[in-house]
Amino acid sequence: MLFKNTKTAFSLKKNIELKRAYLLFKIISYPFLVNLGKFLVMISVKLRLPVEHLIRLSVFDQFCGGIDEKDSLKIVNLLATKNVKSYLHYSVEGASLEKDYDNCLASTIKTLEVSKKNSSLLFSVFKPTGYGSSVLFEKKSNKIPFTKDESNAWDRIIERFRITFDKAKSIGLSVFVDAEESWIQPAIDEIVEKMMLDFNKEKAIVFNTVQMYRKGRFEYLKELNDKSLKYNFKVGIKLVRGAYMEIEKSRALSKNYPSPICDSKEETDSQYNNGIEFMFNNLDRFCMLLGSHNEISAKRAINLAAKMSISKDHPNLSFGQLYGMSDNITFALAESGYRAVKYLPYGPVKEVVPYLIRRANENTSIHGQSNRELDLISFELKRRKGSKN
Ligand SMILES: Cc1cc2nc3c(=O)[nH]c(=O)nc-3n(C[C@H](O)[C@H](O)[C@H](O)COP(=O)(O)OP(=O)(O)OC[C@H]3O[C@@H](n4cnc5c(N)ncnc54)[C@H](O)[C@@H]3O)c2cc1C
Repeated sequence: MLFKNTKTAFSLKKNIELKRAYLLFKIISYPFLVNLGKFLVMISVKLRLPVEHLIRLSVFDQFCGGIDEKDSLKIVNLLATKNVKSYLHYSVEGASLEKDYDNCLASTIKTLEVSKKNSSLLFSVFKPTGYGSSVLFEKKSNKIPFTKDESNAWDRIIERFRITFDKAKSIGLSVFVDAEESWIQPAIDEIVEKMMLDFNKEKAIVFNTVQMYRKGRFEYLKELNDKSLKYNFKVGIKLVRGAYMEIEKSRALSKNYPSPICDSKEETDSQYNNGIEFMFNNLDRFCMLLGSHNEISAKRAINLAAKMSISKDHPNLSFGQLYGMSDNITFALAESGYRAVKYLPYGPVKEVVPYLIRRANENTSIHGQSNRELDLISFELKRRKGSKN
């Protein structure tokens, strides 16, 4: 029942906003409409047609905090009235030049500075490929030697990571490093582990993201635990199922290597749930954000926490959902006293289109996600019609 309370879930949404969200999720539930929408948006952006207002009114306001920090802070403060925390991400993608990577670093630093002044902003985040070329991450992952120029570029990537964590440490804020595709992840893991050693002595400033749809990632958590015991550091983990399943599977097929993805959804689910249990059993070393829209996993986690006498506001336990999705989980957890955090992307409307397309794809491809949102919204609209509050 905990996640069925739509009055709590949508307490900040006006009827008109709920109706707009209903229409949006209805459209998103039809893959051919998503494909058509993607095509029209990409063409309009390329041709510089004035579609910003339309994107903003439809999909942008559902999934994004705003066009800049100031704009997004209105949403952060609104969420805070319901005890929901946030973390901001300047979600402009497609960096490929050194100046783009430097701009990405500058925007992470800016977000950290904004977060320093607002107690509802608990974390910060960046994508490794925002800080450097995926070609270099892939070469490093495969132990292919760098040229002189590549080696210099790699040093700059490491420097960007270090500058970010230095800043984060100076203000006592933790930073998530997003997880990406499996063929570049070994290099990301290597850097992040080194940074954990340097920055996580007393507190988990550096968080790696672990995708439990990948075979062997439960063992990876165990490895991290062993290393943290050996070298005495805290392990920060954002635990997710993983967002790139289709790409992973089709690349493995086309390049003729075994798929790195679990053989079934059930296997991913049990690896995810086992990962939570393992971290709960090692809570003196692990600090975690459980990033998921899965109600069963969230319920299992809170039941297990209660059984193990882990307090609801334990500093090492947070739950995370994306803004615009699964408000039934976020708001119920926050109301019950758990640390519930919304990932709040922001940026100029046209620049965040790739992020918006991913959200549309995700809601289309994850069996039942749009339908779940639609059921909850229509239940709430009906409830409001029949009640005075
Ligand atoms: C706060 C937050 C941060 C995130 N950060 C990242 C990130 O850094 N990197 C990243 O990759 N993703 C990230 N994600 C996305 C996440 O990985 C999932 O794609 C998304 O949350 C859906 O999974 P779920 O647990 O919410 O829900 P569910 O609907 O229960 O699970 C869907 C997921 O299960 C897995 N799955 C589905 N079918 C199968 C199958 N047949 N076999 C094996 N596995 C299957 C896939 O991972 C799929 O996305 C983040 C999500 C959140 C909420």
